[in-house]
Amino acid sequence: MSKRVGRELRVRFAPSPTGYLHVGGARTALFNWLWARREGGVFVLRIEDTDVTRSERRFVEGILKALSWLGLDWDELYYQSGRLDVYRAYAERLLREGKAYRCFCTPDEIAQRLKGLRGVEYDGRCRDLSPDQVEKYLAEGRKPAVRFIVPEEKKHTAYLDFLRGEIEFKRLTTGDFVIMKSDGTPAYNFACVVDDYEMGITHVLRAEDHISNTPKQIWLYEALGWEPPEFGHLSMILGPDKRKLSKRHGATSVEELRDHGFLPQAVVNYLALLGWSHPEGKEILSLEELVEAFSLERVTLSPQIFDFERLRWFNRKHLARLPSGELLQAAEPFLKWLGEEALADREKLTKALGLVVPSVSTLSELVGHPDLIALFRRPTLSNEVLNELSQGKKLEVLEKIVARLPSRLTRDDLRPLVRKVAAELGLKPRDVFHPLRLALTGRDKGPELAAVCEILGTEEVLARLSQALATTKSER
Ligand code: GLU
Repeated sequence: MSKRVGRELRVRFAPSPTGYLHVGGARTALFNWLWARREGGVFVLRIEDTDVTRSERRFVEGILKALSWLGLDWDELYYQSGRLDVYRAYAERLLREGKAYRCFCTPDEIAQRLKGLRGVEYDGRCRDLSPDQVEKYLAEGRKPAVRFIVPEEKKHTAYLDFLRGEIEFKRLTTGDFVIMKSDGTPAYNFACVVDDYEMGITHVLRAEDHISNTPKQIWLYEALGWEPPEFGHLSMILGPDKRKLSKRHGATSVEELRDHGFLPQAVVNYLALLGWSHPEGKEILSLEELVEAFSLERVTLSPQIFDFERLRWFNRKHLARLPSGELLQAAEPFLKWLGEEALADREKLTKALGLVVPSVSTLSELVGHPDLIALFRRPTLSNEVLNELSQGKKLEVLEKIVARLPSRLTRDDLRPLVRKVAAELGLKPRDVFHPLRLALTGRDKGPELAAVCEILGTEEVLARLSQALATTKSER
């Protein structure tokens, strides 16, 4: 672990594993990552898992997986839960130096005493306990928290935010705040300061909701005799109703977006544009292009609305850009329902996706997609369809097509074939296409029939037409 040396940019993303990776967190991670990659700096991932009651292993794994899925790799990884001794040692130091004290008040006692006092977090009761009293409480087995002493004069404070300029706080009402909880784990502000220092973080880039923590963190740096990093705060991400984005607004975790069939390329592209814009106004950008173009100068501070429709638009664009091999890989989890045999035919699948994907916004729309059904399952013709096929010259049409089918049907063969059959029977091409589509797919609409035929292959086309002919005749 390196303390701050030289000028190398060192930034971090510090999620608390108390839930899945939220799009707000992902945006913070992305901006830090883009900045680090752009500047040849270091991107640190720090899991803030000291709150044992709320942190869960599965969330840690989920966050790591979600970041990897987005394509955001990290250079260093730390777990706060593995560093408890470090925080304890620094808390001891502050205690020895008289900058912190042990507090034996229980939350209930504090709540009782402060009832009716608005904005006051703690009244400082334990600040002046004598060493004897402290010993006595400890001997009784009471477990103290450690509180940091906030001198009155510090409560009017300011810091320079590298995105927002000077931020001034007038008469903060914060009391002496807890840095170590009574269970021996550190409070967020303390662990964060110790780690940002020890991990040599040069710039803290995080969301606006942490602005109010910044003064506390700066006081801790001062008390510990360390130079603080620079702080910058991004705007918030809001739901379409302009309220803070939350579960109420639907799928807001990266995992959920993945499960809905959004591509990671689309998600990072969209998130990058939530508070940043390309200098030439380009919208569709790959991760590499984002790294190339990213700069803090183009970060905007207005609140950003997370708009699902817009994300879907980005997804369609990225689906269209994806090379067929990658598309197949991305689509596979959404194709399981087609069955093993279909999944084994990679060539057919690739062609089928080329035909069907332009009609969807997310890959989950492939599940049960009627065009895929038509391509992979021989249709059972409904009575309605059978009835229709028995009308007019439709059976003749099918018979003629069967008779004239080339041994290897390609996309380009169908139109001339249809024209020829139409001419022979004195019909319009559309009167040939229609029964053909009905017989092949059981439906009266769908994607371009020539492409459908090519994907099905001559053998399958022949089999479906023969079956349609036989069934229609037997029903008559
Ligand atoms: N663990 C904090 C959070 O998830 C990190 C805040 C920070 O970046 O300092 O909100």
